[in-house]
This record gives sequence, structure tokens and C-alpha cells, in this order.
Amino acid sequence: MSEQHPSRHHRLLPFLLLISLSSAAQNHHQIQNPPPTIARFQQYLRISTAHPDPDYVSAINFLTNFSHSIPFLQSQNLYFTPERNKPLLLFTLPGSDPSLPSILLNSHLDSVPAEPSKWAHPPFSAHYSSDGKIFARGAQDDKCIGLQYLEAIKGLIEEKSFSPLRNIHISFVPDEEIGGFDGMAKFATSDEFKKLNVGFVLDEGQASPGDEYRVFYADRQPWHIVIKAVGMPGHGSRMFDNGAMENLMKSIEVITKFRDAEFDKVKAGLAANSEVISMNPVFLKAGIPSPTGFVMNMQPSEAEAGFDLRLPPTADPDAMRRRITEEWAPSWRNMTVEITAKGSLRDYRGRPLLTFTNDSNPWWSVFKQAVTSAGGKLGKPEILSSTTDARFMRQLGIPTIGFSPMKNTPILLHDHNEFLKDSVYLEGIKVYESVIKSLSSFTEPSSYHAQ
Ligand SMILES: [Zn+2]
Repeated sequence: MSEQHPSRHHRLLPFLLLISLSSAAQNHHQIQNPPPTIARFQQYLRISTAHPDPDYVSAINFLTNFSHSIPFLQSQNLYFTPERNKPLLLFTLPGSDPSLPSILLNSHLDSVPAEPSKWAHPPFSAHYSSDGKIFARGAQDDKCIGLQYLEAIKGLIEEKSFSPLRNIHISFVPDEEIGGFDGMAKFATSDEFKKLNVGFVLDEGQASPGDEYRVFYADRQPWHIVIKAVGMPGHGSRMFDNGAMENLMKSIEVITKFRDAEFDKVKAGLAANSEVISMNPVFLKAGIPSPTGFVMNMQPSEAEAGFDLRLPPTADPDAMRRRITEEWAPSWRNMTVEITAKGSLRDYRGRPLLTFTNDSNPWWSVFKQAVTSAGGKLGKPEILSSTTDARFMRQLGIPTIGFSPMKNTPILLHDHNEFLKDSVYLEGIKVYESVIKSLSSFTEPSSYHAQ
């Protein structure tokens, strides 16, 4: 048959190949005997620390047990809530000169929830497929980095008799995904933290689909804005000035113009998404309810709208507040506004909340050089669109870089089927070995503290 109709068979071939490839993609077998480093990663991922009910105790027990295999590493549990239900795990590898500012490697214990029905493998099974992918909630955000820090230190001590000059601290904090208020925020203002004399922090970053590692020098800060308008109520048939709805609609027009101008900068390629002020309407509330919906022949006396704003640290918060009160919700138009800043754009000394990524910051130069010498390449430093615990460190004026060494990896944080490849995970450990070795050993200048 094939000899009689070679051309027909040939045409079918790509089609058949496609079928066999796609069925193979769905039938990757679970790798049964993973190497110990991968098995440990799987074990950590199998502990569900997803909200709303994160199992912090099991996670901390697992990490503490693992740390017993790492020589010289000390551990302590810190509690900042009266219920002692949100532990913070802190490891310390003492340096030979503890008077030098230390380095802190931070990750969070918790993760966002997962919807198991939307996943190809159960989100807390840490399924290790034959193509090397480890599927689990937290695989990218951010259980990978926490364990990579420890693996890197273990590797350095065991294989290279590593002994740091500075103290190295590794923190595992609770509650990052719900704002960090009972976690990093309380840790940052504690006496325990002050005693650490932290000079530089590495915190989480994000995966990079390309060949370069992504690196973040600032977060954007959310502002929640609720604008309220009041005005004379009236019959639906009457046209009059200064009704509540009319006043609100005028504001929405002004706000929309501002949004367009910011978005145009992104569309024209003049700025990245995270470098502009984003503004999105999130609710509208007005009208007089009736049993079937709303009363249609009445103009309401109140109307309000809510907006989610995200400001980069380069924005001027005072100018923004003026714009909002004078142009978006002017009192002469019977309007009031409630601005809830979910974080500061300035550090404790009034400087923009960002970490310099140039030669004025010696920590940055050492970090960059260490990534390069491990064979990695850093992309252009970015502002993160969202927020992380890094903001609490930058608030104290401590230079902090967001970095998760995941390249050639789709960005799946908070997404279904979050995964990380074994090779990427293992390569990340090597990158951290280089980074930790360099940062903990350089001597210049010990007095440098922020920019
Ligand atoms: Zn995270």
C-alpha cells in the first residue's frame, strides 16, 4: 500500500507526527527516582502553604530539618503575632568579620491558592514529568529561591570549604501574598532585624521567557481611590446642572484622559508598563434600587467610583495627590476623594523607593559580576509591576534587588500549571553559589548603606 501510494502517505506524515507529539506531551510519565536536590524541592512544594490556610509549621519543620545537614548554619524561629501562628524562620551563617554589614536572602513561605480542577497535575503533588518539569503551586513563586539559597550554601560549604567574611542571613517569611503586614513588615521594624545590620538584600523576582535573567530595582505602589459626588436629586425628565451623576461623569472624562496619556507612552514604546502610572476603574456605584433593578425616573443624589492606581517610585506622590484633589475630585464640583496609599513611594529619608543599579551601588556591581561569572546574563533592570516584601527593606534605605534566576521559563506565577524545569532550578543554585560567595566576601566599602 505504501509503495503504491507513496505521495499520499507522505502528505499524511506531518499530520500523524503532530498527533503523536501532542499525545506525548500529555503523557509525560512521572520521574520516580529524582536526584536528592530535586526530591527536596518536591518535598517542600508538597507542603501546602497556600492561603487561606497555609501550613507554616510543616514548612518550617521541613526547612529546619534540612538545615541540620548544612554545617555551621544556625536557625531561629521568630514570632510577631500574639497567637504565634505566623512564624518567621531565620537562618544565619556566621562570617569571620561580623562587624561588616550582612547580606539577607529572603523568600516567602506562603503561596496563593490553586484551583486543582484547572491543573494537569494536582498543584501540591510536585509532579516531576519526564521532560523535566516540576509542577506545583509555588514552584516559581517563590519556593524555588528559598531552597536554592540553602542548597547553594550547602554546596559551597561541602565542596568548596566556604567560609564567608560577612554574616549571611536567610529569611523565610509568612504572609507575603496577603500584604506582608504580619510578616516582613513586622520583621523589618523589629529589634531582631536591627541587630542583623543588613547591608544588602536579595528578594524574589520573576521568570524570564528569554535568555537573560530579569532583575528588579523597585516595585510599583498601589493606591486605591474612591471618588464621591453629591448633587441635587431630581426627576429623570429634568435637565439641570451639578447633579451627582453629571459631576462624576465629568471626573471620569478627566481621569480617562490621564489614563490614555500614560497608556500611550507604553504603546509608543517610550516606557515599560511598570514605568508609567497605571489607572483602572474598578467599581461604579449609583442609582436608587427598586425591586426589579433601579428606579428609572429619578436622578440620584450620590454617585461614586473606585480606581486602582499603581505608581512607580519615579512618580511624584505630592503632585499626584494635588492632581487627584484638584482635577479628579474638585470640591467646587461637590466632590470628595478618599486616597488609600498602600505603601510609600519614598524611603525613611524621603528618597525615591528604589535601588540604584549602577556603579554608585557597589553591591550591585558585585552582584552583576557574580551572575556573569556563573555564565548568566542580566536583562535591563526593571520596575516590578506589582508589589513584594522588598518594599519594606527599601523603606529602611537598604539596597534590595528582586531576582529569581529562571530563564527560558514562561511566567506562571499565580497561574494554573505553575512549573519550573529541573535544569533551570539546578542552574539557579549555581548562580546563587557565585552570588553568595561574592557578596559575602567583598570588603569595599563597609560603611555603604543605601544610596
Ligand atoms: Zn512571590
